Amino acid sequence: LLLGIDIGGTKVAYTLAREDGEIVARSRASTPQTGNPKSDVEIMADAARALASESAGESLTGVGLCVPGPLDLTRGTVVHPPNLVGWEEVPLAAWLEDELRCSVRMENDANAGALAEWRYGAGQGARDLVYLTMSTGVGAGLIVDGRLHRGRRGTAGEVGHVAVDWPGESCACGLRGCLEAYVGGRAWTEHLRGEAEADGRVLALAGGRDRIGPEHVLTAAREQDAWALAQIERFNLYLGRALAQLAFTLAPEIVVLGTIVAAAGDTLCLDPLRQYVADHVWPHQAPDLRIEAAQLGEDLPHRSAVAVALALGEED
Ligand SMILES: [Zn+2]
Repeated sequence: LLLGIDIGGTKVAYTLAREDGEIVARSRASTPQTGNPKSDVEIMADAARALASESAGESLTGVGLCVPGPLDLTRGTVVHPPNLVGWEEVPLAAWLEDELRCSVRMENDANAGALAEWRYGAGQGARDLVYLTMSTGVGAGLIVDGRLHRGRRGTAGEVGHVAVDWPGESCACGLRGCLEAYVGGRAWTEHLRGEAEADGRVLALAGGRDRIGPEHVLTAAREQDAWALAQIERFNLYLGRALAQLAFTLAPEIVVLGTIVAAAGDTLCLDPLRQYVADHVWPHQAPDLRIEAAQLGEDLPHRSAVAVALALGEED
């Protein structure tokens, strides 16, 4: 059996699964916030042991960890996760190996999401896949030639900071023109709040400028509101530029898009993105590149961590 632990900003998802992906047991609990990383890890290990005790005697072969970046994968440390108070350079994988007496493998959430959509979701059967998510920032996981591509010091996949405009908008990372500054959940929300029309449909739906989010723009766009449709067009333009670059650079069979694009669906985002990419690559490249929505939805945290554990077994 495999055990998955997905550490989110507010919740930790624990999952016990068979290697074929069948989930045996799952649980969720608040993310421990004692201020002391060692105590936090002990709390998580207790919850993991409690779940593993439901395995009825079957042994645990590996533990997969899904953690918000940045991580140092060469040292197995969590560098400075945004939502874990007091965590600096925590050797999380080693601590959990001691606690659980089992091999532990760790990935950031973008890499883990790519593994999960590849194993259990929209990308099953592909050899080359790009997974992109736009929740707060923009993260990507790359499956190249049938395995996760980590790059130097495990830092591959920072597609959110590829320039799609120059000099362009300021990005939270300090650079300008980054993809994340246009389509990342936080940046796009800020843009929408700043630009929303005073008497417009989006502001009316949200009930206040500070409450505007991507979901209001999607709703207004489905009602054919012109301002909302223009915002989606802008979103698709910048994301399309990045996808065309990826199509040339990595030649994936499938690009799997999560969060905002998955919520927007075919008409608002996926079909325009497919058309944009088809118009900006060579004609023979477009027909065998699929651009699809992520499939795992709310199951993603459970599937991600299990997919990381599965990869541990396959690469040893
Ligand atoms: Zn950036």
